[in-house]
Amino acid sequence: MEHRLTRTFSERPARGERILYWMQASVRVRDNLSLALAQRQARDSGLPLEVLFCLDTSYPDANARSFAFLLDGLEDVAASLEALGLTLTVALSPAVPAVTAAAVRAATVYFDCAYLPFARQQRMEIARKLACPVIMAEDNAAVPVTTVSEKDEWSAATLRPKLMRLASLEPFLPRALETGIASRPSELKADLHSAGIAFLEHRPTRALLDHLPLDRKVAPTLLKGGESAAWARWELFRETKLETYDQNRNDPNLDGQSGLAPGLHFGHLSPVSLMEDLKKLGLWKEPTSYRKAGEDPVSKFLDEVLVRRELSFNYVRFNPRHATWLGLPDWARKTLTNHYQDPRTATYQRAEWETGQTHDSIWNAAQYQLASTGVLHGYLRMYWGKKILEWSADPAQAYLDALYLNNKYALDGRDPNSYAGVAWCFGKHDRPWGERAVYGLVRCMTAGGLRKKFDVDRYVRRFTPPVLTPPS
Ligand SMILES: Cc1cc2nc3c(=O)[nH]c(=O)nc-3n(C[C@H](O)[C@H](O)[C@H](O)COP(=O)(O)OP(=O)(O)OC[C@H]3O[C@@H](n4cnc5c(N)ncnc54)[C@H](O)[C@@H]3O)c2cc1C
Repeated sequence: MEHRLTRTFSERPARGERILYWMQASVRVRDNLSLALAQRQARDSGLPLEVLFCLDTSYPDANARSFAFLLDGLEDVAASLEALGLTLTVALSPAVPAVTAAAVRAATVYFDCAYLPFARQQRMEIARKLACPVIMAEDNAAVPVTTVSEKDEWSAATLRPKLMRLASLEPFLPRALETGIASRPSELKADLHSAGIAFLEHRPTRALLDHLPLDRKVAPTLLKGGESAAWARWELFRETKLETYDQNRNDPNLDGQSGLAPGLHFGHLSPVSLMEDLKKLGLWKEPTSYRKAGEDPVSKFLDEVLVRRELSFNYVRFNPRHATWLGLPDWARKTLTNHYQDPRTATYQRAEWETGQTHDSIWNAAQYQLASTGVLHGYLRMYWGKKILEWSADPAQAYLDALYLNNKYALDGRDPNSYAGVAWCFGKHDRPWGERAVYGLVRCMTAGGLRKKFDVDRYVRRFTPPVLTPPS
């Protein structure tokens, strides 16, 4: 477990009055390593434990849709903590001032771990300001990202052997303690108040949305967030779809995927829990080779949720240019540049993409599914991203447009997977293929190819609205 922890020790001995856990990325109680460690220190030191979440409406790409899902998660956490005798305090503030104020009287502050640069910068800025020890526990990856590799990996094939060997060895996480530790939220709130930080007086729920300054044009969806909903989704998938995952996952009409991505993104569920659950049920198979993904459904699923997902963590951690097409490998940028002048079937601007006004009914249906439900099936997501590349005048702008749409509308957007997913459409983590117009050596996708895989017309019927309402 040691390699899951990063410690920064201040010069001063810690003689604080509380243990503070700043919940940033692991919005759950189950399999939350930071919470478990903070609880143990609180028990051993006799100090109260405070759990703080910072609800920051200025967070990049925050909108009513993502906040509704986030609030579901906080409501769940607040209830689960209460059952343990603890309180969740929600500051209505960016993290840096709120955590700094809450830590003034802390003996130790625990962080969890999100992977995008914005979240890392927040953690580093806060850690620099604190006078007490800070311990960060990494529990949203099967194996901590820098333990697996220290460079931008070429592809899943290069990451897989390193990751899966370590993932197989990984011991399970300590559990949250049942009882015996208390919070003193009124003292924490007094410190926040003195620093001019607003906080919630009541348990967080979706009802709070009406009072928050958020972009409401991206409306909440009915998909429920939170730890219990994420577990229910996992259990349903495990019972009814996992055994056909390898055959059904690429047919959007069968909904053969797990639907876990939003829950994983918001930290309502950890992949470590999934590994543990599969082991407990005897479904986990030790890979016979770490080189290739196994062919059976469980191995295929693990290859997505462990290898592909943590390849994305690797990309955003070790490639500082992942937010633009400059993050692509040289061969991909070179070939796309060589085909810059190729005539396109059509070209579109961001507003036309956003309102689904292309000549292609499949693409428009995919965009409608994304914009209206916050979810887009994985197979169509590839087609959707590839066509943005194909029908844009400039690949650099296409990269930005795909990210913009993904991060604005997808419930699992603003995630390392968002960057790696878009980058994959442009050649990242892939190899050169045969030369084609516009794509050059980058793998292309066609409507004809889609039709061979699934009933495209049925999908289009499901997701073609009578009228597409342009967001103003
Ligand atoms: C253009 C584009 C944009 C994408 N944007 C996102 C995004 O914003 N957020 C996101 O989580 N995924 C993104 N992906 C990856 C993938 O499409 C989704 O993770 C997957 O479709 C989510 O559905 P699911 O949870 O039902 O997946 P399942 O097939 O059930 O897979 C289980 C989990 O494995 C992981 N996973 C599956 N496929 C991939 C993949 N190709 N790369 C990385 N991890 C994967 C996810 O965490 C997923 O939840 C994107 C892919 C593309 C091509």
